Amino acid sequence: LNFHVTRFLTSAPTLADCPADEGREVAFAGRSNAGKSSALNTLTGQNSLARTSRTPGRTQLINFFAVGSDSAQRLVDLPGYGYAKVPEAVRREWQAHLADYLRRRHSLAGTVLVMDVRHPLTEFDQMMLGWADDNDMPVHILLTKADKLGRGAAASAMTRVRNALVEWEDLVSVQLFSAHKRQGIDTLNDTLARWLTL
Ligand code: GDP
Repeated sequence: LNFHVTRFLTSAPTLADCPADEGREVAFAGRSNAGKSSALNTLTGQNSLARTSRTPGRTQLINFFAVGSDSAQRLVDLPGYGYAKVPEAVRREWQAHLADYLRRRHSLAGTVLVMDVRHPLTEFDQMMLGWADDNDMPVHILLTKADKLGRGAAASAMTRVRNALVEWEDLVSVQLFSAHKRQGIDTLNDTLARWLTL
């Protein structure tokens, strides 16, 4: 699979607006500012595929991208989460759409959960892991901004996350990543290719 041949398909505010539930897709989720857009842009080699630094409180959309020439294999950019400024009602509505998408989307093969290696397993991350567990859906954790820590510290951060999730080890995999240093792209590629072609 060549992720460099990825193009924008459509944006959907709710599950009902998503493209046909056929083929396979992988969703990217993460707390705002974790580094999700940078990871998607690095994976696809397209600097403006996923917009970085979105405006807080904007309409939350699920963005779909096609990998390759047809739309049978897709990457999905789930809205960032966690801006303090978002009103509680908006937050709740967004959670409902997200839970709905994770529960009902048959073509969803797995989720990449992006975490800042310095602040892993936030409340949002725990909520996502809970939903993934409820739906028996595999999760690949990207501990990104690994360049912000020394090698040893990054390795221990990864071990801590793995140890915290031993009860989910059948569903969860963990890797270090850095968009700035282009670290971990091959491992991410392999996981996505497996999910999208099984
Ligand atoms: P998003 O809100 O999760 O989409 O996060 P962004 O991709 O917009 O990144 C948030 C901030 O973290 C930006 O200032 C990025 O430049 C920075 N960032 C993202 N990835 C990395 C990385 O791998 N290393 C470093 N040092 N900074 C990063």
